[in-house]
Amino acid sequence: NETVSKNFIEQIIEKDLSEGHCETVHTRFPPEPNGYLHIGHAKSILLNYGLAKKYGGKFNLRFDDTNPTKERNEFVESIKEDVKWLGVDWEDRLFFASNYFDQMYEAAVKLIKKGKAYVSDLNAEEIRQYRGTLTEPGKEDPYSKRTIEENLELFEGMKNGEFEDGSKVLRARIDMKSSNINMRDPIIYRVARMNHHNTGDKWCIYPMYDFAHPIEDAIEGITHSICTLEFEDHRPLYDWVVTELGYKNGENDTPKQIEFAKLYLTNVVTGKRYIKKLVEDGIVDGWDDPRLVSIAALRRRGFTPESIQKFVELCGISKANSSADYAMLEYCIREDLKMKKPRMMAVLNPIKVVIDNYEEGKVEYLPVVNNMENEELGSREVPFTRELYIDRDDFMENPPKKYFRMYPGNEVRLMNAYFVKCESIEKDENGEIKVIHCTYDPESKGGNSPDGRKVKGTIQWVSAEYGKKVQVRLYENIVNEELGVYNEDGSLNVNPNSLTVLESIVEPALMEAKPYDSFQFVRQGYFCVDSKDSKEGQPVFNRIVSLKSSFKL
Ligand code: ATP
Ligand code: MG
Ligand code: MG
Repeated sequence: NETVSKNFIEQIIEKDLSEGHCETVHTRFPPEPNGYLHIGHAKSILLNYGLAKKYGGKFNLRFDDTNPTKERNEFVESIKEDVKWLGVDWEDRLFFASNYFDQMYEAAVKLIKKGKAYVSDLNAEEIRQYRGTLTEPGKEDPYSKRTIEENLELFEGMKNGEFEDGSKVLRARIDMKSSNINMRDPIIYRVARMNHHNTGDKWCIYPMYDFAHPIEDAIEGITHSICTLEFEDHRPLYDWVVTELGYKNGENDTPKQIEFAKLYLTNVVTGKRYIKKLVEDGIVDGWDDPRLVSIAALRRRGFTPESIQKFVELCGISKANSSADYAMLEYCIREDLKMKKPRMMAVLNPIKVVIDNYEEGKVEYLPVVNNMENEELGSREVPFTRELYIDRDDFMENPPKKYFRMYPGNEVRLMNAYFVKCESIEKDENGEIKVIHCTYDPESKGGNSPDGRKVKGTIQWVSAEYGKKVQVRLYENIVNEELGVYNEDGSLNVNPNSLTVLESIVEPALMEAKPYDSFQFVRQGYFCVDSKDSKEGQPVFNRIVSLKSSFKL
């Protein structure tokens, strides 16, 4: 009984369909292959794909690789992997903008022939000065009077490598007096000798984004070109390009650009520059460090595609910039894993317990239900022995009031096992507790006493003999939230406690866990097997999220 209201993009699309401005919906996700995708990109991917699905249309994955400086094949591969992992299927519609370089060149020639573009010899600084400011109109480019023949010849010369990098540009002839600076004869082609990951050294001229992007959309038959708000002021230029090139007839026709607000996460770093620095400084172990929010990092941390889909859905689509809480993302993964994952026993900070009245050498395999809320996950048997580990936090020598876990003289329930009572403790020469001595009540097997005796505390445990030692990592935000994300000098406020590495003891069943497998560790949270540092038979567990939440839907 959720009321489903349509977001503003859906409203535009439905209007366009009903008024016949397009026959079908065709969207695209156009990443530049210059880095890894992050949670913000996931929003764009799922939005574009979701719209295509919803309206029975098509979705393209297109690499917007028209600026070769930072583009690399490695990123093409990682982006494909991430998009696929998110549950998006582009079928046979994988495209590279660089495959349209010939068509873009022809489009530029067409503009020149129409008198709508000219070659200028102004350098970058001069162009900036001539362009004017918000309060000051632009000035005519002194080269704008060149004839069409001259321009055709010079542009061909640019293509043929006759001119130095930066010595000539092709400008669209629009309006130097426009109140929109983007319309003041924008540069559409530049000379730059750069090796391209796809086209190699074929080209020494490259189109500018504002010229290339609308052409890419038009070639592919994109109807709704969805981008983020910072491109709002570029929309008139988008329309100018597709209209001048004859791809669009009338302002309601498609392709059309629609802007929406970027997804930001409060107190979370997504900027490439900062992440690069964290990697270089050795604070994180790569772009996929589980503390980051790249798609690869979220996957490694143990987030699922479903949890990210849910998160993006909860964030909604809007025209106003806002920032979502990381706690909402945590809520989404908890909700996703709650019913799906077995609940295992792990002791993160182990302390030894000896049950003095339990037979030495004896082992009982106690039945344990894997997930009380989901019978389908079945049950397992967990070995119980005289020597066990419990968590250090579950014992206090001098407890405060309302402490119901283990302390001298108190009886607690060992989860799924027996009632035990702490009788004494052994300390080492430094006064640190080494061993807790208990007695157990054999009648309380399974966790209840036939005499109806109640205990208030229930704690998890692992057999000392059968349990396994593993590395467990707990995470906090990589930025110090109290100080805010950035210092005055622009550097990051790094939280020195963002990673805690523990030597923990887990149930033997967990040793079979494979990379990306995840579990609830009872009372501790959800954990995922690290895909980078685990070895066969020696899993490393990353905490995805704790069980407690401050977030309310
Ligand atoms: P970044 O600098 O964070 O990598 P970008 O804009 O350079 O972002 P592109 O590869 O150019 O990344 O973007 C691909 C698509 O993803 C674009 O359509 C862009 O609008 C969208 N996108 C990028 N960041 C976000 C975000 N935070 N929220 C929603 N969409 C985003
Ligand atoms: Mg990018
Ligand atoms: Mg970009």
